[in-house]
Amino acid sequence: MITTKVHRITRPNADVVVLHLRFPSGVRAKFQAGQYLKVLMEDGDSRNYSMANPPHESDGVQLHIRHVPGGRFSEGVLAGLEKGHALTVELPYGEFSLDEEVDHPVILLGTGTGMAPLKSIIEDQIKRGGSRPMHLYWGARNSQDLYLADLPAQWAKRLPAFIFTPVLSEPEPGWSGRTGWVHRTVLEDYPDLSAHQVYACGNPIMTTAALNDLTAEGQLSPDAFYCDAFVPSGEIQPKI
Ligand SMILES: Cc1cc2nc3c(=O)[nH]c(=O)nc-3n(C[C@H](O)[C@H](O)[C@H](O)COP(=O)(O)OP(=O)(O)OC[C@H]3O[C@@H](n4cnc5c(N)ncnc54)[C@H](O)[C@@H]3O)c2cc1C
Repeated sequence: MITTKVHRITRPNADVVVLHLRFPSGVRAKFQAGQYLKVLMEDGDSRNYSMANPPHESDGVQLHIRHVPGGRFSEGVLAGLEKGHALTVELPYGEFSLDEEVDHPVILLGTGTGMAPLKSIIEDQIKRGGSRPMHLYWGARNSQDLYLADLPAQWAKRLPAFIFTPVLSEPEPGWSGRTGWVHRTVLEDYPDLSAHQVYACGNPIMTTAALNDLTAEGQLSPDAFYCDAFVPSGEIQPKI
């Protein structure tokens, strides 16, 4: 358990808060890119949030928190947080990390704040000089929801084989990019995924549909599908 201090709070759009927490001086937390932590509330109840920073930035954590209407943490607690406030976290949790034992090309598939662990994985690969081909698909309703839209272009300059495809389900007039369901866009681009690994994160409806469709129609091996579904607290992860 670590008592962190709120270092910075930014609101890149109306729905998302980026929360930077600092560890006490001298404390460094070990985690793998893609893992998550538990934020503990005063009565011991907790919420899970994925680390968005890569592990080498170990003096704190960056969390991307989507507003859930009426949500105890994402609305109630978050609204009262200010720089300097204490927040207790426990980490690391989860097995959503890049499988380093193989070098298959990677599809990263996220919706909304499902970008958080994918950002950690990508920035970790940049730090390690990784060369695996990576194609990031980020699904959102409209371009406002792509709250870190400038980052992928920076990653593309630093990762040799990195491609970014944003996909909007409710595009505004003038959008000239891809539209529809993000996992269906993957299938359009990669009808044969038998040599790929897929890492899917975010909305549980998307992660379940991605598992079903990519394995049934895209020849993806179920063993090559890794996922963190952002299920509400108390619900269990869908089975792979
Ligand atoms: C492994 C894991 C990692 C996660 N990482 C992140 C992350 O990085 N960023 C992030 O924003 N969220 C993440 N989540 C979701 C997060 O843990 C909370 O469930 C979410 O923030 C809602 O908490 P709350 O206290 O605000 O709402 P609650 O008080 O728990 O819920 C309020 C109401 O909203 C419903 N609800 C709760 N969550 C959702 C949801 N996701 N979609 C729709 N309805 C919901 C509940 O059923 C309830 O009716 C993750 C979840 C898991 C399991």
